[in-house]
Amino acid sequence: MRLLRRYPLFALLLTAPSLQAEWFQREEPIMGTSVAVELWSDEKAHAEKLIDAVMTEMRRIEAGMSPYIATSELSQLNAHAAERAMPVSKELFEVIDRSVFFSKVSGGAFDVTFASVGHRYDYRQKKKPDDGEIKKLLPLVDYRHLLLDRDGRTIRYETPGVVVDLGGIAKGYAVDRGVAILAGAGVKHAIVTAGGDSRILGDRRGRLWMVGIKHPRGEGSVIRLPVENMAVSTSGDYERYFEANGTRYHHIINPATGKSATGVRSVTILGEDATTTDAMSTTVFVMGVEKGLALVNRLGNLSAVIISDDEKVYYSNDLEGGDE
Ligand code: AMP
Ligand code: MG
Repeated sequence: MRLLRRYPLFALLLTAPSLQAEWFQREEPIMGTSVAVELWSDEKAHAEKLIDAVMTEMRRIEAGMSPYIATSELSQLNAHAAERAMPVSKELFEVIDRSVFFSKVSGGAFDVTFASVGHRYDYRQKKKPDDGEIKKLLPLVDYRHLLLDRDGRTIRYETPGVVVDLGGIAKGYAVDRGVAILAGAGVKHAIVTAGGDSRILGDRRGRLWMVGIKHPRGEGSVIRLPVENMAVSTSGDYERYFEANGTRYHHIINPATGKSATGVRSVTILGEDATTTDAMSTTVFVMGVEKGLALVNRLGNLSAVIISDDEKVYYSNDLEGGDE
């Protein structure tokens, strides 16, 4: 009643068209994960067309950047870049260039050449390389083997045997592309998610979006963060793993050891774009609590929530309301 008294009738009429609008959503399996789009629209056909466009874009990126699809541009690069400088698309160049940026700022914790060893793990088959194999292949894990020529837009691998996998950054990039499509079409409220990477456009119509951080060993969320206009990525040791002799072999590889990173169970990064939050969640996972938080605090424009091995929760300075 109070609402009615405070708002004159013409104001109610002005907002009337949006009363017919609603949320539209869809989820599809793409890039080895679940891709979801939810958006606010006042027309079903238009909403469905936009969701189609986002899904098509995600499939296009997968077709170009998957190292498991033999025809992908990345597979071609992996197959031939040690023989000669390969011309690459602007898009692939930018994603690899951005990857190298995160390698540099993290002292090599993020390294897309992790795959030179990482591809010897098979989490479904519960297979891992033995120590001898790791020792032999580990010198191939080094982003400095990637020779990027920005002017010629070519990439060459310095050494045969180097393998690049963009699994730590490409989903975030795809999410950013999806959001760009929606924003370009005038959508004001939406969320695009690919596995652990999401980007939110606008608010949830006057409210904030609630993003949950999972309990790394249990069911449901332990932490809920209210956000708007933001990207959020979580990397966890529970996403892809197997256990053998009491050790958890999971999909985030420490490039210094060729083995699964230890010390942390999940890392959530909040930031402006999903390419950054995706890469940084993987990066901070490898760096661990102390060094990881120091990097987040230093880079700025980013927030972090880290759940450590002993299930303690650590926050970056800005979330802590903290020291800086
Ligand atoms: P995310 O779930 O975003 O943390 O990404 C994990 C994925 O990143 C893995 O499945 C690998 O494809 C890739 N990855 C694993 N270790 C690294 C690393 N040290 N640097 C870059 N990418 C990595
Ligand atoms: Mg990530």
